[in-house]
Amino acid sequence: MSTTAVSVSLGLPEVPRNRRSRAEIEAAAPVEGTKRVLLAAPRGYCAGVDRAVIAVEKALEHYGAPVYVRKQIVHNLHVVRTLEAKGAIFVEETEEVPTGELVVFSAHGVSPAVVKSAEDRELRTIDATCPLVTKVHREAVRFARAGQEILLIGHEGHEEVEGTYGEAPEATTIVNNPAEARTVHVTDPENVTWLSQTTLSVDETMEIVAILRERFPNLQDPPSDDICYATTNRQAAIKEIAPHADLVIVVGSANSSNSVRLVEVALEYGARAAHRVDFARQVDESWFAGVTTVGVTSGASVPDVLVQDVLALLAEYGYAGVEEIVTADEDILFSLPKELRAKLKEDGDTSRGLGGRKAKAKPTA
Ligand code: SF4
Repeated sequence: MSTTAVSVSLGLPEVPRNRRSRAEIEAAAPVEGTKRVLLAAPRGYCAGVDRAVIAVEKALEHYGAPVYVRKQIVHNLHVVRTLEAKGAIFVEETEEVPTGELVVFSAHGVSPAVVKSAEDRELRTIDATCPLVTKVHREAVRFARAGQEILLIGHEGHEEVEGTYGEAPEATTIVNNPAEARTVHVTDPENVTWLSQTTLSVDETMEIVAILRERFPNLQDPPSDDICYATTNRQAAIKEIAPHADLVIVVGSANSSNSVRLVEVALEYGARAAHRVDFARQVDESWFAGVTTVGVTSGASVPDVLVQDVLALLAEYGYAGVEEIVTADEDILFSLPKELRAKLKEDGDTSRGLGGRKAKAKPTA
């Protein structure tokens, strides 16, 4: 069988690979109609990820390498490797950071125990927790102080859930899925509230809340949605595209909750197939067999260069017409962490984040 070498630019060392050619794929399964791409908007970087990545870059620039980062700053392989190349050192726990060094807390947030451990080790810290995660932490503290039992909807073991749970462990129970919602035990059904991880499936979370409310009619809601605007908007865009797509490609890492949810949502809303890839080189050309319409989106921690690489690969296989499906505009920008703003001010750096910009979420379509 003849093959065509396609080399894909990843912003990383190029990895040439032998792929079956467009002609071979089309001969195996003819395509009806004009090939096209429906590109989701919004997609990719959210304000919290943007802020966290810039925080590490600015820390490297102003304090010099190494800058330690607890956990992956955001859940994206490309971002992590790029920052490592600039001098960031990623660690799992603060205990791995030498005494007195600088450590950045990731966008997913940390529990008070982690903050205390950093203080005990006299680490200098920059907290890059997304403000929308911090909001959920504050709700947990407030509800626990008010004597409420908290049902935290989220995935046990995810860093964000660990951080939120750690704010009020004695008052919190994690609910992973609808099955757990049907069996979770509470001490006083009259005094229960629910909170959630910011990056869940909107639909599944509402299903879980409905189950909980049936069991505990006086269940209290959080003051505003915990699932963040970026997660909601990206899911809304792929819901629009999925019914028309023979194939959906989601760019995002395996540990990125909102990227994995996008694959699930695409399938749920009618895509014939959906796959997640970190990089264009992971796209399997056999997915294109018989495919007329390809939907493309990316998780909230994905730089757009990785999506552009996928589009370039798709163009090689005849999917050159790209229509952007816009379901919301986003103009949110968070100011940088306060510890860093102070340093930037001291050094006369006005390039980003001294006070930030007014943030406003537009409603989803
Ligand atoms: S996905 Fe949402 S909660 Fe997470 S960093 Fe982005 S804006 Fe913040």
